Amino acid sequence: MSSIFTKIINREIPADIVYEQENIIVIKDIAPQAKIHLLIIPKKEIPTINDLEETDRDLIAEMFFVAKKVAKDLWVDEGYKLKFNVWEKWWQEVFHIHLHLLSDIK
Ligand code: 5GP
Repeated sequence: MSSIFTKIINREIPADIVYEQENIIVIKDIAPQAKIHLLIIPKKEIPTINDLEETDRDLIAEMFFVAKKVAKDLWVDEGYKLKFNVWEKWWQEVFHIHLHLLSDIK
């Protein structure tokens, strides 16, 4: 079964899409924990950081470059937090990796 983020990527369910490129999509979090709360999501459905493979290196690097770009585009590059939650005991809810970008500086 597809993850909720794959459904968003495939436009099966709506989301506020901030940016998209070939391998990555960026959406606004539905329950923001800061003034700016984005999710940087690879289109490849990798359940958790523990499932990363060597072949995912470039994709993970790309996620951080997208984070840098959207932070600059939204004028929050002077202060923001990036985080991955990994597994349920650290509150991962959606098992399709995503990098949270949070900022309150705006
Ligand atoms: P996790 O806890 O897995 O690291 O984070 C999952 C995040 O996805 C949560 O912050 C949650 O609010 C967000 N989220 C869950 N379902 C949806 C959804 O359908 N749309 C959007 N835009 N965000 C979602």
